Amino acid sequence: NKKVILKNYVDGIPTETDMEVKIGDTIELKAPKGSSCFLVKNLYLSCDPYMRGRMRDFHGSYLPPFLPGQPIEGFGLAKVIDSDDPNYTPGELICGITGWEEYSLLRSSNELQLRKIQLDDAIPLSYHLGLLGMAGFTAYAGFYEICSPRKGESVFVSAASGAVGQLVGQLAKLHGCYVVGSAGSKQKVDLLKNKLGFDEAFNYKEEADLDAALKRYFPDGINIYFDNVGGSMLDAALLNMKVRGRIALCGMVSLQSLSSSSQGINNLYNAIPKRVRLEGFLQSDYVHIFPQFLEHVKGYYKEGKIVYIEDMSEGLELAPAALVGLFSGKNVGKQVVRVANE
Ligand code: NDP
Repeated sequence: NKKVILKNYVDGIPTETDMEVKIGDTIELKAPKGSSCFLVKNLYLSCDPYMRGRMRDFHGSYLPPFLPGQPIEGFGLAKVIDSDDPNYTPGELICGITGWEEYSLLRSSNELQLRKIQLDDAIPLSYHLGLLGMAGFTAYAGFYEICSPRKGESVFVSAASGAVGQLVGQLAKLHGCYVVGSAGSKQKVDLLKNKLGFDEAFNYKEEADLDAALKRYFPDGINIYFDNVGGSMLDAALLNMKVRGRIALCGMVSLQSLSSSSQGINNLYNAIPKRVRLEGFLQSDYVHIFPQFLEHVKGYYKEGKIVYIEDMSEGLELAPAALVGLFSGKNVGKQVVRVANE
């Protein structure tokens, strides 16, 4: 059972060498009798920025740290091979927290946000980790529940071509908003403008003055900022918010990668005279609207109203590189690893 383990807790920017691909023991492809577990073959693994937080020896967050020497865990899509749990039958497909390994023994009782997936010829299976998974749901819950969007409003999205950002922008367009995205390369900016339907997009790495860049695209100010990066981009957005604007604090990936753009917040005071609402959120607070999200976003996709860009790495060996690539912007779209063929 080949697996990806965390070697040691990580300080600073994670690198591939913080992880190791190990040829594990030969295992019997059976769920032990009396264990109430089921054995899955992992097909796809999701790479997500929050996983960086679990590489730190810190217990005060909403998720516990990974255990060094043990396989990394994350969202995955897998096929049930054998089961000692009457609720899971061999052949079924599931999506939930699994190990970064070829086969995992899972238990349904430990609240893994486990759900069964029905095959649908119109939807690639791996999309259940992106468009129809945690990333897509974060975009949906964050945009509708936190941003309170109104038609005609101006919306700014950072890390806009990523797993979450690309859907936020498209939902905002469907809502009748003016949408601008920032991303870290020309290729990503072109995708935002030509494939994902953003009104405008810019490469933040080419802007010496982020405040000036935002003033160029939002001369009348920003109603909604969907913040995926924090740091200096959040600081610049605070200078450009309209009165009673809303900022959804979704993630602060720039702080995790400790790059030169990860400076502190100086402009927070602007939130007061402008009565800006800043709200942090976790997608897991909104599970009650997950069925509504699936229905709406699946519908939009099937009607051709939205598209989704994926970045697929082939094989467990490439999983460490895929994960650390998130923190230098190597991924173009939702980063997924294919472990085995469907
Ligand atoms: P992405 O697919 O967007 O991948 C991460 C991207 O972040 C990179 O491609 C890169 O894009 C950008 N990035 C990396 N380093 C920096 C930096 N120093 N400054 C600016 N941008 C940087 O990830 P997701 O869409 O999965 O996640 C987006 C955000 O949403 C993350 O902050 C994540 O933690 C958060 N999140 C929050 C959830 C919640 O419940 N609140 C749930 C899921 C995600 P580029 O090339 O454009 O710089």
